[in-house]
Amino acid sequence: MATFDFDAVVVGGGVAGACTAALMAKAGFNVCLLDQRIPNPPDDETSARVVALSLGSQRILNHAGAWSLLGEEHATAYGEMRVESGQGVLRFRADEHGLPALGWIVEIPRIQHALWTVLKDHPKVSIQAPSHWHDWSPIEGGIKIRLADEKGDLTASLTTRVLIGADGAQSRLRQSAGIETTQWDYNQRALIGPVTTETPNPGMAWQRFTPLGPLALLPLPDGQSSIVWSITNTEADRLAKLDPQALVETINEVLVESHPHASKTHPTLDPITPMGALAQLHQAHWLPLKRIRADRLIGNPDQGPLVLVGDAGHSVHPLAGQGLNMGLADAAALVECLNAADQTKNMDSEQPWQKALVRYNRWRLSASTLNASGIHFINEISRAPMGLGKHSLGLSFMVANRLWPVREAMIQKACGIDRDSPALAQGGQPKTSPSAK
Ligand SMILES: Cc1cc2nc3c(=O)[nH]c(=O)nc-3n(C[C@H](O)[C@H](O)[C@H](O)COP(=O)(O)OP(=O)(O)OC[C@H]3O[C@@H](n4cnc5c(N)ncnc54)[C@H](O)[C@@H]3O)c2cc1C
Repeated sequence: MATFDFDAVVVGGGVAGACTAALMAKAGFNVCLLDQRIPNPPDDETSARVVALSLGSQRILNHAGAWSLLGEEHATAYGEMRVESGQGVLRFRADEHGLPALGWIVEIPRIQHALWTVLKDHPKVSIQAPSHWHDWSPIEGGIKIRLADEKGDLTASLTTRVLIGADGAQSRLRQSAGIETTQWDYNQRALIGPVTTETPNPGMAWQRFTPLGPLALLPLPDGQSSIVWSITNTEADRLAKLDPQALVETINEVLVESHPHASKTHPTLDPITPMGALAQLHQAHWLPLKRIRADRLIGNPDQGPLVLVGDAGHSVHPLAGQGLNMGLADAAALVECLNAADQTKNMDSEQPWQKALVRYNRWRLSASTLNASGIHFINEISRAPMGLGKHSLGLSFMVANRLWPVREAMIQKACGIDRDSPALAQGGQPKTSPSAK
């Protein structure tokens, strides 16, 4: 078999790419991670960019060696999840499903920093950052990629058995491979930021479909919550002009309006939020929302072994908190497929990983499309006029809440531990590749 500088070159050191690199290295492969910038170390202030990570993602990050570096104080577990629409409520408790937690709220810069710390210390990893790729082309059994500095002058040429694109939703690698995308602009923006509520958040991920859009409060350390409120661009333009206190008052009004008679007709529903009214919004950021779906997650066979993970392959609406969870499942699934191919394959085959990539594409394209379409569907329904969407969603929540098998299937899926999830996410241990150097 031909020799290569690396088993894998990963373009993009966001959480999905850095985790893919760490899992590849852990499996015994030589990896090069390339990013156009070196991420700043997290500072003491809580970042507005937090994500809800599922149990499956926690297991993947734990295996990659990053979870223990985060520190308990930076991963806030939630044992309860509540979703409300109209008079319908869907409730989940980790203990009822025999789970340690339903998920954890983590700041993106911290988890990225933990992964980069793992990678910097790993003997099988080389980090090229800040660095850009100039071009890439197929070679026998792999790909050659040339790097350039900011001025465009070539700096290095590397060969690899697989080229992994983890360069985010606007992936340049995806575009260069001619992989088409289907895109939906939601004409929505998400308000995000840490908030203080009347009473501390007890470790609950809570979401209500308000008339303006879904509003979630996710638990942060010290009883604070992180708000994620997705609303139309027109409303966002109007609300972004308000000072923070006026914005908080407006949000409280919308929350009350979304349940005008909650305490009378449905005493278990809280009129504002389970944590009372919002008191203070600490930093407000507005992020545009778009769904992007790559039509395939691998290059054509004649392009050599190229594959996409994370937002490079799919970015989704945040209402189900699944985007990065899907990216981490991609990372684990890819390493699982490559490893399995190395366990069973004919080592003399010219392109031993090509079949593994086809399997990855089939697996993750269908899983991510199914997830993303479900999320898209809920968002579209919730926006139906005259409160129709809100009430039909509420009705389905009411029904689902009473059907235990449905609840169990939903929680397995939401926690990323269902039978379609990578073995690592389900609690299994992947093997080390026999061909790893
Ligand atoms: C409001 C909001 C809330 C969300 N909440 C959740 C949640 O609760 N749970 C969840 O799972 N997900 C959530 N998501 C989704 C999640 O934030 C994304 O899915 C995730 O951050 C994407 O990670 P990534 O590593 O794939 O891409 P990115 O984070 O975009 O990383 C891409 C990396 O590639 C690098 N790069 C780009 N171009 C190049 C190049 N040409 N050369 C070299 N390097 C390059 C960049 O520097 C960057 O480091 C949310 C998203 C939004 C908008």
